[in-house]
Amino acid sequence: MFLSVRMVDLRKNLNNFARALFNMTEEKRSLNFIEQIIEEDLVEGLPQSSLRFRFPPEPNGYLHIGHAASICLNFGLGLRYGAPVNLRFDDTNPAKEEQEYVDAIMNDVKWLGFQWDKVLFSSDYFQQLFDWAVQLIKEGKAYVDQQSSDDIALQKGSPTTAGTDSPFRNRSVEENLSLFYKMKDGAFEEGSHVLRAKIDMQHVNMHMRDPIMYRILKKTHHRTGDDWCIYPMYDWTHGESDYIEQVSHSICTLEFKSHRDLYDWYVDQVYDKSLLRPKQREFARRNLSYTVMSKRKLLQLVEEGIVHGWDDPRMPTISGLRRRGYTPKAIRNFSEAAGISKRDNVADVALLEHCIKDDLNQTAPRVMAVLNPVKVIITNYPEESTEWLDAENNPEDEQAGSRKIPFSKELYIEREDFREVANKKFFRLKLGKEVRLKNAYIIKAESCVKDAQGEVVEIHCTYDPLSRSGSGTEESMRKVKGTLHWVSVAHAEKIAVRLYDRLFREEDPDGHKDKDFKEFINPDSLTVVEAYAEPSLQTATVLDRFQFQRLGYFCVDPDSTDTQKVFNRTVPLRDGWAKKDR
Ligand code: ATP
Ligand code: MG
Repeated sequence: MFLSVRMVDLRKNLNNFARALFNMTEEKRSLNFIEQIIEEDLVEGLPQSSLRFRFPPEPNGYLHIGHAASICLNFGLGLRYGAPVNLRFDDTNPAKEEQEYVDAIMNDVKWLGFQWDKVLFSSDYFQQLFDWAVQLIKEGKAYVDQQSSDDIALQKGSPTTAGTDSPFRNRSVEENLSLFYKMKDGAFEEGSHVLRAKIDMQHVNMHMRDPIMYRILKKTHHRTGDDWCIYPMYDWTHGESDYIEQVSHSICTLEFKSHRDLYDWYVDQVYDKSLLRPKQREFARRNLSYTVMSKRKLLQLVEEGIVHGWDDPRMPTISGLRRRGYTPKAIRNFSEAAGISKRDNVADVALLEHCIKDDLNQTAPRVMAVLNPVKVIITNYPEESTEWLDAENNPEDEQAGSRKIPFSKELYIEREDFREVANKKFFRLKLGKEVRLKNAYIIKAESCVKDAQGEVVEIHCTYDPLSRSGSGTEESMRKVKGTLHWVSVAHAEKIAVRLYDRLFREEDPDGHKDKDFKEFINPDSLTVVEAYAEPSLQTATVLDRFQFQRLGYFCVDPDSTDTQKVFNRTVPLRDGWAKKDR
């Protein structure tokens, strides 16, 4: 059973690795479809110097791994074509937006390793958008509607039935202008009036059936304060902002595909032919298994205390992943490996985990820590004696050097690494058998002491003094089946370790119509244990990452204090989840 599970894990990892490798080489070989579109535009005469991209977050939450796909795509295009990329905050809804989010988003984009050309805000265009709206009214292309939102919705029709004209559709230009100015001046209550584009209530595309351009919101905006009480809708703002900034390719997610007609219509109303006309193109959202990705849902997890904030290491946010121990490189590699797609799909979280393991394998110093300790006493080792043994910091990196670790008579090993009796496949410590202690000696278990409950409290071992690793003796080369990690009791640093597991038990927590996503929360997503680590960890600082040998990758949490360090498990070395699935 144990062996077969291991093989499943191994196969899974290999599959993931192969897939990632395939995608990476694929990336080198061929362009993604967005790049193909750009290449075609260049062939058709668009000067490369006109290329300009943007990443347009709404500052109503923290960025997540899905946003990272868009960031890597847009900034990646910038790098590929030597084109500027703006960070544009799409801040048209004062009810949900905050400066805290603006700051966090800028921090995350920088941390991911990207540099924007300009930081811009849609709210900076409020006056321009208003002026253009006035122009549309004057041209008979927009009108003030004062029906309830329910009535407006009813008149929209359906994909198979045409809509119905509003009774206010044919107001005079003068009346519309006067009402629109009154809306702007705060003369009306929220919800009482809207400005609508006058397009076509019979249009096959429902977004073209007189969409709302402005609504009244008597809310303070995080940047414009109380200057405005009417705010432009997303569709009206987005294309015009792209046009103002002369963005050549406005890349958004698939759900906006049906908005493209409207995007074009709005741009065409103000388009000056001497300038560039931006082009909207869509790619599939990045989804990830075993999590949710909408900011609204992530906010719910935060507000209901299900997680400890946006940067909780269980969150799929960039800040959560950072705190969990993820590197920017691993996130970028994941984005690349998962690829840019035209169709909705779900990336396997195992691929993300593969990417961080792959990166940390190259870069993380190896150390020893024992999470579930039981004491080993080496009966033939001198009392009070300490040897400082050489230990390589990273076998994958020659430059990483080595350190000294203390060895003494009393050690901790993992409780799971000892059994009084076990079958032949148990290559760890059992009575009468030998194992090697990593970077140290071969020991043999002679006997054990148990408490009243029958739990082993001490294992008495003998060691072979000639078997020290690296000592060059014949015994030091002697092969024994198992190698265990360990920590010297007298020198151990007591640490707290947060063992994270997936936040959801279900692969697609969003995919059940009759069930709320929160029903699938994994109640065991966080376990905190007291552990012992080698003393070299005393100097570790916040966000330093390590491999705890044989266990996984861990990173120092900001909750660490002078008296106790806290470590987050980024990812175990082996995938324990497959075991639980069975
Ligand atoms: P959410 O649904 O999570 O609230 P959003 O689309 O409202 O996301 P925005 O801040 O508007 O979030 O997104 C900024 C940019 O990132 C947009 O261009 C959006 O299309 C893109 N984006 C958002 N979520 C994803 C995702 N899961 N995969 C790829 N791109 C995304
Ligand atoms: Mg959005």
